[in-house]
Amino acid sequence: MKTSFEFFPPRTEKGKQTLHQVRQELSSINPEYFSVTFGALGTTQEATLETVLDIQKNDTVVAAPHLSCIGSKKEIIIELLDQYKAVNINRLVALRGDIPSGVRDIGDFHYANELVEFVKSQYNNHFHIEVAAYPEVHPESKNRQTDLQHFADKVKAGADGAITQYFYDAEAYFKFVDEIEKLGVSIPIIPGIMPITNYTQLVRFSNMCGAKIPNWILKKLELYQDDLDSLSTFGLEVVTNLCQTLKEQGVNNFHFYSMNRSQPSLEIAKHL
Ligand code: FAD
Repeated sequence: MKTSFEFFPPRTEKGKQTLHQVRQELSSINPEYFSVTFGALGTTQEATLETVLDIQKNDTVVAAPHLSCIGSKKEIIIELLDQYKAVNINRLVALRGDIPSGVRDIGDFHYANELVEFVKSQYNNHFHIEVAAYPEVHPESKNRQTDLQHFADKVKAGADGAITQYFYDAEAYFKFVDEIEKLGVSIPIIPGIMPITNYTQLVRFSNMCGAKIPNWILKKLELYQDDLDSLSTFGLEVVTNLCQTLKEQGVNNFHFYSMNRSQPSLEIAKHL
């Protein structure tokens, strides 16, 4: 079974120390890569570079930076990718990103497919590129069919694989994989797995990104929101069962949204 883990770049010294420890703990199961998120328009871009270089230099696991293009210029993307290439980084997660409110200049790229095409045109196949996939539809999409078609466009532009937005209904994943196969897409679609450890945070994220929390899960989480032990036990059972269902149907690669914590994802991975 293959695994990979996503981190966000820490901003404080304490956050950096914690992430070092988390990386060490997660390395024990030999993940394929550690990915690091990237904020639109400068918010965490320096911190992403710093975290990525630190992983690449000090860890046994390779780093895969996220790169969002909205608001960016081609020269800036090249400058960053040259730095990555110089330290032998050869994986990327290529995204459009979200435009922060009030920003007018969207830069040289409109959508992620343009970024994928640009990176492939500049670096050939140096970078293995993952893109984002949305089994429950991207929140800005007009409808499911156009969203699927736009996803297929990213693949046509050169994406080598995709990581999904998190979901708690295995059927949503299988339906998405079926539908895109019918569009002629055959790249690996790796499920993005979000451990459940915090009710308020999960509801807030899900509202923002369009991931659905099935009612039966939501009701239990509401019940356990002030009882962290029960919530964690329930969350572990739900997400482990989800992964088990995916595994029984042939999925053998899992990408964990670690939230810079090792224990929740490790427990799920070890159960598998
Ligand atoms: P796109 O694939 O460009 O799609 C965005 C929307 O535009 C979709 O609704 C799509 O249907 C539509 N669309 C696409 N092409 C066209 C077209 N030609 N014409 C009209 N409509 C079109 N965000 C960050 O800021 N930093 C990160 O590090 C980050 N990491 C992520 C990792 C994963 C695995 C996932 C799933 C998401 C991540 N995000 C991140 C969030 C992501 O940036 C947002 O979901 C963003 O709104 C869309 O990015 P995208 O790359 O999916 O965009």
